[in-house]
Amino acid sequence: MYNQNTSYWELTTVLAKSDYLIIGAGITGVNTAISLKSQNPGARIVVVDKGPWGDGASFRNAGFACMGSPTELLSDIESSGIEKVMEIVKMRWRGLQFLIDRVGEKAMDLTWCGGVELFPVNCRHAWEEVIEALPELNLRFREVLNHDSDQFAASDPESWFQQGIGQVNIQKEGRLHPGKMMRSLHDLARDLGIIILGGLEVTGWESNGDGIRVTTSSGPHFFTQRLGLATNGFTPRLIPGLDLQPARNQVYLTEEITDLKWDYCLHVHQGYLYARRIGQRLLIGGARHLDKEGETTDQPGTTDTIKFYLLDFLRNHFSISPDLQFAHSWSGTMGIGIEKMPIIQELEENIFAAVRLGGMGVAIGSLVGDQLAHLMLRHS
Ligand SMILES: Cc1cc2nc3c(=O)[nH]c(=O)nc-3n(C[C@H](O)[C@H](O)[C@H](O)COP(=O)(O)OP(=O)(O)OC[C@H]3O[C@@H](n4cnc5c(N)ncnc54)[C@H](O)[C@@H]3O)c2cc1C
Repeated sequence: MYNQNTSYWELTTVLAKSDYLIIGAGITGVNTAISLKSQNPGARIVVVDKGPWGDGASFRNAGFACMGSPTELLSDIESSGIEKVMEIVKMRWRGLQFLIDRVGEKAMDLTWCGGVELFPVNCRHAWEEVIEALPELNLRFREVLNHDSDQFAASDPESWFQQGIGQVNIQKEGRLHPGKMMRSLHDLARDLGIIILGGLEVTGWESNGDGIRVTTSSGPHFFTQRLGLATNGFTPRLIPGLDLQPARNQVYLTEEITDLKWDYCLHVHQGYLYARRIGQRLLIGGARHLDKEGETTDQPGTTDTIKFYLLDFLRNHFSISPDLQFAHSWSGTMGIGIEKMPIIQELEENIFAAVRLGGMGVAIGSLVGDQLAHLMLRHS
């Protein structure tokens, strides 16, 4: 039926009609599938992805379990107002609890190492604004986290941070291993009987009275009752017109460094630049603000402009040998928009989406997936 060689056995297993088909095997899509199956154990659920196991940000991010650095929060407050920003912060915190409950801290190497926002000497204005705003931010975070200690504390720069005027220490923040997080989620989904298929790029779909026929570039098509898109930064290829753009983010990993003196999640300049340890290596990434136009793409790749900016940043500020080189690099695609809140909605009858997770999908992805599942179930 699909090609002359498709067997009856394939037609009655992997290609059999599903109750729910999810496009995207990242953190959002897999959590959607897990929540659907938990609520409806008898349902037949298939997840397809164009990559062999996923080809998006979930396997390529920096692994920060965070709720926002002070300059990032202040910039968001300026554009969206404090109430909306605190709603997003709450979602990040709830999302992290949800992820931990589902995966477990140990399985994804989650370490509550704390965070630090660094202020280089040329950021005096931002530093002064942050110092003024910290009491209000701390008050708001106490309510969200239900903690009686401050989330943010300003201090002099630590000795290893060169050419800095100050830093803000961030209490509740951690780092994890995104590959282990995703492997655990995929294992959990498969254990529940969810079928995850890689190497299948969805090209379109059409609804008829019997359900939805979903086509792929490599040949097989699928039939489903309900379709969920968890395609994040790649969504404009399938549905144009949403407030959603791809945003590439480049990541670099250094060679081993013998005397690394710190272990935090580091943020600079509204979260555009970030760094953390992986053993004796440093991961540094971002700097998308240097070339916003060039980085508005879903194509993988790295550029010399960003690579050398990040290398210079390390050499100038981190007391590191001028001979240090990057040993490895990659990029990932985020989905961003003017609005920071994710889009979770029914697009048309029986077709749903949970996309636009911005730079916070580790924190919110599992909760967003769960919310998509509940939306799909409500309309069943
Ligand atoms: C470099 C980088 C660093 C980041 N660092 C952090 C961080 O430290 N902390 C944090 O909270 N967030 C971070 N993020 C953001 C976070 O990774 C994302 O928000 C999150 O992974 C989004 O998950 P998702 O499942 O919605 O999308 P994705 O993981 O992108 O998954 C979408 C999936 O859909 C598939 N797909 C798309 N189109 C099709 C199609 N037509 N057919 C079939 N499959 C398709 C893709 O292959 C992909 O696997 C970072 C992102 C990047 C790129």
